[in-house]
Amino acid sequence: MKKEMNLYLEEMPDEALLDYVTEKTGQKFRFNQLKRYLIQGVPAIDDMTSLPASLREQLKQDFKFGTVTVEKEYRSSIDDTVKFLFRLHDGNCIEGVLMKYLHGYSVCISSQAGCKMGCKFCASSDVRFSRDLTAYEMLRQVYLMQKTAGDRIGNIVVMGIGEPFDNYDNLILFLKTVHDPEGFNVGYRKITVSTCGIVPKIRQFAEENMPVNLSVSLHAPNDDIRKTVMPVANRWTVDEIIKACRYYVNKTGRRVTFEYALIEGVNSDKKQAYELVRLLKGLLCHVNLIPVNSIRQTAYSKPNPETVKTFQNIIMNAKIPVSVRRELGSDIQAACGQLRKTEMRE
Ligand code: SAH
Repeated sequence: MKKEMNLYLEEMPDEALLDYVTEKTGQKFRFNQLKRYLIQGVPAIDDMTSLPASLREQLKQDFKFGTVTVEKEYRSSIDDTVKFLFRLHDGNCIEGVLMKYLHGYSVCISSQAGCKMGCKFCASSDVRFSRDLTAYEMLRQVYLMQKTAGDRIGNIVVMGIGEPFDNYDNLILFLKTVHDPEGFNVGYRKITVSTCGIVPKIRQFAEENMPVNLSVSLHAPNDDIRKTVMPVANRWTVDEIIKACRYYVNKTGRRVTFEYALIEGVNSDKKQAYELVRLLKGLLCHVNLIPVNSIRQTAYSKPNPETVKTFQNIIMNAKIPVSVRRELGSDIQAACGQLRKTEMRE
């Protein structure tokens, strides 16, 4: 009867799980209870409190479970942002952020333990890639942050550690499950996925029929500059990314957001603003400017506010919608990967 031992509870096929639960308890409805707990991202078997204690013990003996626990919680003293360091069952660390806006709570979750993309300005690149997260490990981050919020989560952004399109199948299962009315019931339009520009996956995502918001981390208007900060630019050109985005817009009727981290002396000059306008003109899109967060003493720094304003005005005058990202939680290292880096080094 130990045959289940090496399987994760969350990955059991429905039929096998129904048989198992019925055999152990004689009560078929326990299967539905268990299933609902999984869909709701319950982070440990012990939290499934409506199940009989004997069944919980049995489950713990017979299955593995991708437990997620809160290792550390940092509360910003300047806004309501809370940054989480989560511990996974295998010792890995990931991060999440809970943000409070006027219209409700929003969470940022990680999609991988580490990242292979190696963007020069990103703290996630400083620690090695470990593994993909399962869809359930993504759900469990939402669960734990919702518990802290004490209120339902209205918005989700997949912008934490990792490249979501490098973990595509798990991402799609996560999106479907978090959208499930039996689960968190978050509308697709309230979810944003951010990618560094994995071109074939942008096209594949366009076919999914999920009205999720797509964000593309562009950070440069041409390949030469992009290659200096993003190794992925050696694989796909800016031109290929824009073509894929055009395909996405035509297919879905939805706008694409371009993330553009402004870095002093690299990509924040007027010249690059005009080049960006030429690149994006006529495409249904939005530009989100992010004055870069410095992660190392030596590396990149944000331009002064006038430079940011000038850059923004050039985009705006070309009638391309543009915003400058509001900084939340700057006192608690809320930029991606900063906590994992510190923790994994220790
Ligand atoms: N891999 C995905 C999602 C994770 S990064 C992606 O590349 O989009 C989320 C966003 O934060 C990306 O736009 C990324 O470029 C940006 N980012 C990472 N480090 C940053 C920093 N130090 N300052 C500003 N933005 C940063």
